[in-house]
Amino acid sequence: MTNQYDVIVVGGGHNGLVCATYLARDGRKVLVLEAENHFGGAAKTREIAPGFKISAGAHLLTMLNPEVRKDMRLDEHGLKFAAKDLKTIALAEDGEHISIHGDAISGGDITAKDQAAMKDFHKTMLRFSKLLASAFRNRPPKLVEGDWHDRINLLKLGLGMRMLGREDMRELMRVGLINVYDVLHERFDSELLKGALSLDGLLGSHMAPRSPNTVLGYLYRRLGDLWGYRGPSLPEGGMGAVGLAMANSAKSMGVELRSNSAVVSINTESGRTTGVTLQGGEVLEAGIVISNADPKNTFQKLVGIRNIETDFSRRVENIRMQGNVAKLHLALDGLPEFVGVSASDIGQRLVIAPDMDYVERAFNPSKYGELCEAPILEIIIPSVHDTSLAPDGKHVLSAVVQYAPYSLKAGWENEKDRFKAIVIDLLEQYSPGIKAKIITSELLSPLDVEREFYMTGGHWHHGEISFDQILMMRGAYGSNQYATPIDGLYLCGAGAHPGGNVMGLAGRNAAKEVMKRGAAA
Ligand SMILES: Cc1cc2nc3c(=O)[nH]c(=O)nc-3n(C[C@H](O)[C@H](O)[C@H](O)COP(=O)(O)OP(=O)(O)OC[C@H]3O[C@@H](n4cnc5c(N)ncnc54)[C@H](O)[C@@H]3O)c2cc1C
Repeated sequence: MTNQYDVIVVGGGHNGLVCATYLARDGRKVLVLEAENHFGGAAKTREIAPGFKISAGAHLLTMLNPEVRKDMRLDEHGLKFAAKDLKTIALAEDGEHISIHGDAISGGDITAKDQAAMKDFHKTMLRFSKLLASAFRNRPPKLVEGDWHDRINLLKLGLGMRMLGREDMRELMRVGLINVYDVLHERFDSELLKGALSLDGLLGSHMAPRSPNTVLGYLYRRLGDLWGYRGPSLPEGGMGAVGLAMANSAKSMGVELRSNSAVVSINTESGRTTGVTLQGGEVLEAGIVISNADPKNTFQKLVGIRNIETDFSRRVENIRMQGNVAKLHLALDGLPEFVGVSASDIGQRLVIAPDMDYVERAFNPSKYGELCEAPILEIIIPSVHDTSLAPDGKHVLSAVVQYAPYSLKAGWENEKDRFKAIVIDLLEQYSPGIKAKIITSELLSPLDVEREFYMTGGHWHHGEISFDQILMMRGAYGSNQYATPIDGLYLCGAGAHPGGNVMGLAGRNAAKEVMKRGAAA
């Protein structure tokens, strides 16, 4: 086995695999080093009890970029779907639920006025999202010292804005700078609808409906709609199947994949990378190292602060990436029933966010390092669609739980069981009898997320998606076009433009940037 490569990718998350595949396709000799025993990063399926499998991190595929999917031939490499275009069911305690599917809403207290408003709102949001979609396909342009690529990209962005027309442009400037709470209040009457819609602007973030940047979060989430998904989908075999198909694709292009290979340092000499050292001391050489790890992990742990200049190191330290999400996993001795949810809807995306004030109140304690007593939940029972996930007649439930602050004052070791009980009690309110069906339960705190997925702060986007951390501001100024202040070292993960979720564009764009700069980098 050789220890010399053209490119070493640190981390076999989905973005690392995408990046490696594009570069191998371009003729590079590429090695991917993954600390864990599986590929896909937080797109991972694992057992919680014998025969019960859950998607341990990401649990819904909402915005896998279709170009990445096609280029990597993921369908040929085994990616299949157990369910597609799921509806969102906004749960009401009295069973008067609302169903949301693209721009169609029905049920509960939904009026014809709200239905018409939704059509208009959806259309407007998609027009605005288009601007993001075009900016996300390219490296973010530098504003001042950019080259002709940057100027073209900036021009495209400007042109996209102009094409919106005066009224839309004015509206975009207005809503972009307020918050999803005000925007939804202006448009809709149903509190339950507004509660559920607001989640699309803030899931995975340290934000609530009244926070700035939540409209940006909402537009970000709508990219999935632009790419042809009417709702989230469930890969057959759980989210790990995405990682598996990507790993197969990478291998087919000649990428060498090594699991159980934690990188302990990215090595540098005179300001340029020379390769990496693995736990255990093995040294591997490459002129180009691309990190799928988040920026803090990359620069503070793997490169080492002493090897980067002070200003850049401060900017990295200031990246906002405090996770505020926990994850509940249940193995169930039978299918639970939710009050008022029909058999055909039980496998849809169920959310508990009765109104926007409830969501805001759930967020408040987390600002002070405390837990809420009434969290919000995004629930999915994937075994309804995919019998490979649980033994016959049994089921698994996965729920994203907000808000659960990474820096919990009382300490997660002291509070985890209490919080798990709060979440399960909340579920019991909407699904009487579910408690009695629990065979095994597991709550991942943000600290557990950090440990299991190597995500600093347990932040699911490797850094907040906000105006101060998107486009040319993502990944900290100085590493915002994938290249970093260390020659030959690049970023390719969710902490780089355009950000997180299982999307693949950060990996694709990073590979394109490496190719553009040529082998010498
Ligand atoms: C609880 C939770 C729920 C989520 N739900 C959803 C969802 O439903 N839908 C969705 O689209 N997104 C969801 N996300 C977000 C999504 O999972 C991430 O944005 C996405 O996984 C980022 O992909 P990535 O490839 O950039 O990084 P990651 O998935 O974080 O992969 C990085 C990889 O690098 C490896 N690594 C790190 N350091 C080293 C090292 N030193 N040596 C070797 N390997 C290393 C890690 O082990 C990991 O495999 C969720 C995230 C969390 C935490």
